[in-house]
Amino acid sequence: MSGSTSHPQPSQDALPFSPDAQTPPRPVLVSACLLGLATRYDGRSKTNSRVLDFLRARNLLPIPVCPEQLGGLATPRPPARFASGDGEALWLGQGMLLNQEGKSMNAAFKRGAEETLRIARLTGCRAAILKERSPSCGVHRIHRREGLVAGTGVAAALLRQAGIALIGDEDL
Ligand code: SF4
Repeated sequence: MSGSTSHPQPSQDALPFSPDAQTPPRPVLVSACLLGLATRYDGRSKTNSRVLDFLRARNLLPIPVCPEQLGGLATPRPPARFASGDGEALWLGQGMLLNQEGKSMNAAFKRGAEETLRIARLTGCRAAILKERSPSCGVHRIHRREGLVAGTGVAAALLRQAGIALIGDEDL
Protein backbone atom coordinates (compact mmCIF):
# COMPACT_ATOMS: atom_id res chain seq x y z
CA MET A 1 0.00 0.00 0.00
CA SER A 2 1.39 3.38 -0.85
CA GLY A 3 2.12 6.17 1.59
CA SER A 4 -0.53 8.32 -0.04
CA THR A 5 -3.29 6.12 1.42
CA SER A 6 -5.56 8.15 3.65
CA HIS A 7 -7.28 6.70 6.67
CA PRO A 8 -10.51 7.84 8.25
CA GLN A 9 -9.83 9.68 11.46
CA PRO A 10 -11.51 7.91 14.38
CA SER A 11 -14.24 9.81 16.09
CA GLN A 12 -13.35 10.29 19.73
CA ASP A 13 -16.84 9.09 20.63
CA ALA A 14 -16.15 5.80 18.87
CA LEU A 15 -13.00 5.14 20.87
CA PRO A 16 -13.04 2.44 23.53
CA PHE A 17 -13.03 4.72 26.55
CA SER A 18 -15.38 7.05 28.27
CA PRO A 19 -15.05 9.70 30.97
CA ASP A 20 -16.06 7.60 33.97
CA ALA A 21 -14.21 8.38 37.20
CA GLN A 22 -15.95 5.51 39.03
CA THR A 23 -14.11 2.78 37.15
CA PRO A 24 -10.37 2.07 37.32
CA PRO A 25 -8.31 4.01 34.76
CA ARG A 26 -8.13 2.23 31.46
CA PRO A 27 -4.72 1.76 29.89
CA VAL A 28 -3.87 3.52 26.66
CA LEU A 29 -0.54 3.50 24.85
CA VAL A 30 0.95 6.97 24.48
CA SER A 31 4.05 8.10 22.61
CA ALA A 32 6.48 8.70 25.45
CA CYS A 33 7.68 12.06 24.13
CA LEU A 34 4.13 13.46 24.35
CA LEU A 35 4.14 12.71 28.08
CA GLY A 36 7.33 14.71 28.65
CA LEU A 37 9.89 11.92 28.39
CA ALA A 38 13.07 12.92 26.55
CA THR A 39 12.93 10.14 23.98
CA ARG A 40 13.12 12.08 20.71
CA TYR A 41 15.96 11.80 18.22
CA ASP A 42 17.33 15.13 19.48
CA GLY A 43 17.19 14.06 23.11
CA ARG A 44 14.20 16.26 23.85
CA SER A 45 10.56 15.67 24.73
CA LYS A 46 7.44 17.00 23.04
CA THR A 47 5.08 17.45 25.98
CA ASN A 48 1.53 17.95 24.75
CA SER A 49 -0.87 19.52 27.25
CA ARG A 50 -3.90 18.55 25.12
CA VAL A 51 -2.90 14.91 25.44
CA LEU A 52 -2.41 15.22 29.19
CA ASP A 53 -5.79 16.94 29.55
CA PHE A 54 -7.46 14.24 27.43
CA LEU A 55 -5.97 11.49 29.60
CA ARG A 56 -7.17 13.15 32.79
CA ALA A 57 -10.63 13.94 31.46
CA ARG A 58 -11.15 10.37 30.22
CA ASN A 59 -9.69 8.69 33.31
CA LEU A 60 -7.04 6.93 31.23
CA LEU A 61 -3.81 5.36 32.44
CA PRO A 62 -1.01 6.28 30.01
CA ILE A 63 1.41 3.49 29.11
CA PRO A 64 4.46 5.32 27.71
CA VAL A 65 6.17 3.73 24.72
CA CYS A 66 8.92 4.91 22.41
CA PRO A 67 9.09 2.48 19.50
CA GLU A 68 12.46 3.78 18.36
CA GLN A 69 14.07 3.21 21.75
CA LEU A 70 12.33 -0.17 21.94
CA GLY A 71 13.95 -0.97 18.61
CA GLY A 72 17.35 -0.56 20.22
CA LEU A 73 18.16 2.92 18.94
CA ALA A 74 20.12 5.38 21.06
CA THR A 75 18.97 8.77 22.27
CA PRO A 76 19.99 11.14 20.82
CA ARG A 77 20.11 9.47 17.39
CA PRO A 78 20.27 10.67 13.77
CA PRO A 79 16.81 11.63 12.51
CA ALA A 80 15.14 9.28 10.03
CA ARG A 81 12.63 9.75 7.25
CA PHE A 82 11.09 7.64 4.52
CA ALA A 83 12.96 7.58 1.23
CA SER A 84 9.90 5.83 -0.22
CA GLY A 85 6.59 4.42 1.01
CA ASP A 86 5.49 4.57 4.64
CA GLY A 87 5.04 2.23 7.59
CA GLU A 88 2.34 0.19 5.90
CA ALA A 89 4.54 -0.25 2.85
CA LEU A 90 7.41 -1.43 5.03
CA TRP A 91 5.30 -4.24 6.47
CA LEU A 92 4.52 -5.28 2.89
CA GLY A 93 8.22 -5.50 2.11
CA GLN A 94 8.22 -2.22 0.22
CA GLY A 95 9.43 1.26 1.04
CA MET A 96 12.65 2.42 2.65
CA LEU A 97 13.39 4.30 5.82
CA LEU A 98 16.81 5.94 6.04
CA ASN A 99 18.51 7.88 8.77
CA GLN A 100 20.44 11.07 8.18
CA GLU A 101 23.60 9.03 7.57
CA GLY A 102 21.91 7.07 4.77
CA LYS A 103 21.65 3.85 6.79
CA SER A 104 18.54 1.69 6.46
CA MET A 105 16.41 1.85 9.59
CA ASN A 106 13.82 -0.65 8.39
CA ALA A 107 14.83 -3.49 10.71
CA ALA A 108 15.24 -1.39 13.87
CA PHE A 109 11.92 0.40 13.39
CA LYS A 110 10.09 -2.87 12.74
CA ARG A 111 11.64 -4.42 15.83
CA GLY A 112 10.55 -1.44 17.91
CA ALA A 113 7.04 -1.65 16.50
CA GLU A 114 6.79 -5.32 17.44
CA GLU A 115 7.94 -4.56 20.99
CA THR A 116 5.38 -1.75 21.18
CA LEU A 117 2.62 -4.14 20.17
CA ARG A 118 3.87 -6.60 22.76
CA ILE A 119 3.47 -3.91 25.44
CA ALA A 120 -0.02 -3.09 24.18
CA ARG A 121 -1.02 -6.72 24.59
CA LEU A 122 0.66 -7.15 27.97
CA THR A 123 -1.13 -4.11 29.37
CA GLY A 124 -4.50 -4.61 27.67
CA CYS A 125 -4.38 -1.37 25.66
CA ARG A 126 -7.05 -1.09 23.00
CA ALA A 127 -6.10 2.40 21.87
CA ALA A 128 -3.00 4.50 21.33
CA ILE A 129 -2.35 8.24 21.25
CA LEU A 130 0.65 8.76 19.02
CA LYS A 131 2.91 11.57 17.89
CA GLU A 132 1.90 12.71 14.43
CA ARG A 133 4.58 13.11 11.71
CA SER A 134 7.00 10.64 13.29
CA PRO A 135 8.36 7.79 11.11
CA SER A 136 7.37 5.42 13.92
CA CYS A 137 4.33 7.01 15.49
CA GLY A 138 2.71 9.12 12.73
CA VAL A 139 -0.98 8.27 12.38
CA HIS A 140 -2.00 10.34 9.35
CA ARG A 141 1.18 12.14 8.29
CA ILE A 142 4.85 11.25 7.97
CA HIS A 143 7.98 12.91 6.63
CA ARG A 144 9.27 11.60 3.34
CA ARG A 145 12.20 12.86 1.33
CA GLU A 146 9.95 15.36 -0.48
CA GLY A 147 8.38 16.70 2.71
CA LEU A 148 5.33 16.07 4.86
CA VAL A 149 2.96 13.57 3.19
CA ALA A 150 -0.06 11.45 4.05
CA GLY A 151 1.07 8.15 5.51
CA THR A 152 1.53 6.05 8.61
CA GLY A 153 4.57 5.37 10.77
CA VAL A 154 5.97 1.88 11.23
CA ALA A 155 4.67 1.27 14.76
CA ALA A 156 1.35 2.97 14.06
CA ALA A 157 0.79 0.73 11.04
CA LEU A 158 1.42 -2.44 13.04
CA LEU A 159 -0.83 -1.32 15.91
CA ARG A 160 -3.59 -0.50 13.45
CA GLN A 161 -3.27 -3.92 11.80
CA ALA A 162 -3.62 -5.46 15.28
CA GLY A 163 -6.92 -3.66 15.87
CA ILE A 164 -5.64 -0.92 18.18
CA ALA A 165 -7.57 2.35 17.70
CA LEU A 166 -5.19 5.17 16.84
CA ILE A 167 -5.41 8.87 17.66
CA GLY A 168 -2.83 11.35 16.43
CA ASP A 169 -1.90 14.02 18.94
CA GLU A 170 -2.97 16.62 16.40
CA ASP A 171 -6.50 15.15 16.43
CA LEU A 172 -7.00 16.27 20.03
S1 SF4 B 1 9.40 7.13 18.26
FE1 SF4 B 1 7.42 7.97 18.86
S2 SF4 B 1 7.56 8.05 21.11
FE2 SF4 B 1 9.65 7.84 20.37
S3 SF4 B 1 10.39 9.93 20.25
FE3 SF4 B 1 9.59 9.38 18.22
S4 SF4 B 1 7.48 10.11 18.21
FE4 SF4 B 1 8.17 10.07 20.35
